[in-house]
Parts: sequence; structure tokens; C-alpha cells
Amino acid sequence: MKTLSAAEIIEIESRHTSGLYGKQPIIFVRGQGALLWDIDGVEYLDCASGHGVANLGHAHPRVAAALAEQSTKLITLFETFYNDQRAALMQKMGTLVAGLERVFFCNSGTESVEAAIKFARISTGRPGVVAAMRAFHGRTMGSLSATYNKKYREGFEPLVPGYSHVPYNNIEALDKAITSETAAFILEVVQGEGGVYVADLAYVQAARRICDERGALLIVDEVQSGFGRTGTWFAVQFYDVTPDLLCCAKSLAGGVPMGAVLIGPAVKNLTPGVHGSTFGGNPLSCAAGVAALEAIEAEDLPRQAAEKGRYLMDKLRQIDSPLIREVRGRGLMVGIELKQKVQPYLKELQARHILALNAGLTTIRLLPPLVITYEQIDHLLETLTAVLTADLSAE
Ligand SMILES: *Cc1c(COP(=O)(O)O)cnc(C)c1O
Repeated sequence: MKTLSAAEIIEIESRHTSGLYGKQPIIFVRGQGALLWDIDGVEYLDCASGHGVANLGHAHPRVAAALAEQSTKLITLFETFYNDQRAALMQKMGTLVAGLERVFFCNSGTESVEAAIKFARISTGRPGVVAAMRAFHGRTMGSLSATYNKKYREGFEPLVPGYSHVPYNNIEALDKAITSETAAFILEVVQGEGGVYVADLAYVQAARRICDERGALLIVDEVQSGFGRTGTWFAVQFYDVTPDLLCCAKSLAGGVPMGAVLIGPAVKNLTPGVHGSTFGGNPLSCAAGVAALEAIEAEDLPRQAAEKGRYLMDKLRQIDSPLIREVRGRGLMVGIELKQKVQPYLKELQARHILALNAGLTTIRLLPPLVITYEQIDHLLETLTAVLTADLSAE
């Protein structure tokens, strides 16, 4: 391949892009841990992690080695045949959450949600899906129907019938919404795109009880909150609740595209041919997944996320800025809600070589790799303090 200049890269991508992405004029070519480097060698601190994919940091040596080795052995194999890497990953995943021993593999977050919803319908023989307001569950038709924000839904109606939305953290509304026609209630126990909102203990426990009483299944979407991000393997483990279906993807395989659904004993009728995926459970992604889970364990990343998240949030709460309405989150899934739109502040952070995300219009979302160092967190805090005490509201 001929080496492309910076100008050529931007010109080619701009000419051929689908148009679906608001592009930033930076070309990243390399990463290591929580750092990214652009084509000119300029260093950035990544507090976005590709929307929560790079929990292990970029170019994790364990994942890189597993990919290199497996790619010379076997890359693809349909799940009708057995495979050593898949078995190893199933064994690991089947012990992460007590009670969820079965696993379905796919390739993305939205596919894991699609699968969970199909499993709930085929299992219960019911059509209804209840989701929460502000929820984000993905962009394909079934998951989009569970996603709340009209920004994602508009222009794509009619969506899938049978869906309804209830206010988050409201037990009474949930109690009314879940009926004998409900297949499942789907919930992010920490809402990501919706603004970094943490579910109340009583709410998640009530959701479990109400679903049990009515014969509905509980789906927890941990596509963003999973794999150590919030200080435990999965955020739902804070609640002493076991869902029937747990959706995951994003950081599951250390950055390699992969999704999965963990499946509990109440889920029935998953028989050959009912659902499937061509790429699901391929040996290459599974090898990366095994390496990623081993690295999370070896580096005790859930504990690191809990400790670093506490440190970060404590310090954020000490920033004396009239702009800040609230700091909230769990582990290294952190939201800073401002009294104004966050876009100018994100732009200013980027100009100072820190990448962060929004969550809705007024919340800055920080999803750094869990391997971020305390020095890097201090640098983030210094920069945030400077940016949030400057007045950018006019920009
Ligand atoms: C990102 C995300 C999805 C969708 O994942 P994709 O891989 O982009 O399809 C679903 N649910 C949640 C909670 C997410 O954060």
C-alpha cells in the first residue's frame, strides 16, 4: 500500500464517506495505553476510548499477541463446529455472572440487543418490550425501537411494534407498564448516551421482582458499562440482581468487534436455527476475547476502575466552577453535567489534546481506558479545571 499524505487521507475519506459522521480534522495512526498519536506524532490523552471500547487501553500486548498467533491458525469457523478458542471464551464468560452460564456470540452491541429481544419474545411467546426513557440500545430496527431519543428514531418509523418507554428510576411507572403481555424489560443500570445516570438500588431490585411476578424477562444492557468499567465486571453486580439476559460488546475483545449475550436459565426455546450469526464466535475474535478477559483479571481492572473513578470524581467535585451542575457516575464511567451546552468545552479540551465525549447536550462524558495512570488523571483534572473555569459560553 502506498503511503498516503495527511492531505490525501482527509481528501479521500471526505470524498467517500457515507456522510454519517461529523468528522474531526485529526488523523490518528497509533495508540498505547490511554494515549493516541496523530500522523504528525502529536500526543492525545484518550478519555473517550472509542465510546468505551478501549477499556484495556490501545494496542494491549496480550490482545495483540493473541491476534497475531490465532490469525496464523484459524480465523473463521461457523458455530456449528467446535473450536478451542471459543470453548475457552465460553468457559470464562460463563463464570463471570453467577447464574448466567450460556452465551450467544455476535459482532456488535446492537446485535446483542437484537438477539436478547428475540430471545425474550421466543422464550415468553409475548410481544411487549418495555424500555426506559433516555435509553440507548443501538441503531438497528429492533434495538432502535428500544432507544428513546427521537434524534436516533426520527425518519425511520414505523419502528417495531410492541415497545413502550417508562421514566428511569420510577418503580410505580414500571409496575404499571409490565403486564402479562410483556416479554422483557430492558435496562441500562448506568445509562451511557442518555447522560450517565446510575440506577437506584431499589429500582433494579424492584425491576427484578416485578418481572418475576409477571413472567417477563429482565434484560440488562451492559454494552457500555461492562468489563470492569464501573468497578465490577458488570455494573448489575452492584445490585445483587441477576438478569435473565445480559448484553455486552464494546470492550469485550480488547477492541476487536465482538458482542455477546449471557443467558440465564429462565430463557427457553433457543433451539437450532432460531437465531444465529455468520461471524459470531469466530476463533479470531474469541482469541482476542480470551486475552482481553485474562488481562482484565491479571491487572485487576475492575478494582482499578473503582479506585481511579473515586479519585477522579472526588477531585471533579472540588472544581470550583459555576458551570458545573453535577458530577455523577460509577467507576470510570463519569458524567459532568454543565449548566450549558458542552460542545464548546469538548472542542477546547480537544484543542488541548484531550478527547472526551458528550452524553446528551449538557453532559461531558469521560470513559478513559481503565489503565489510565494517576498522572494522566491529574493532567485531565488540570486541563478540565482550566477549561471549565474559562468562559466559552459565547463561542
Ligand atoms: C454502544 C451501545 C450500544 C450499541 O452498540 P454498537 O456496537 O454501536 O451497535 C448498545 N447499548 C449501549 C448501552 C451502548 O452503549
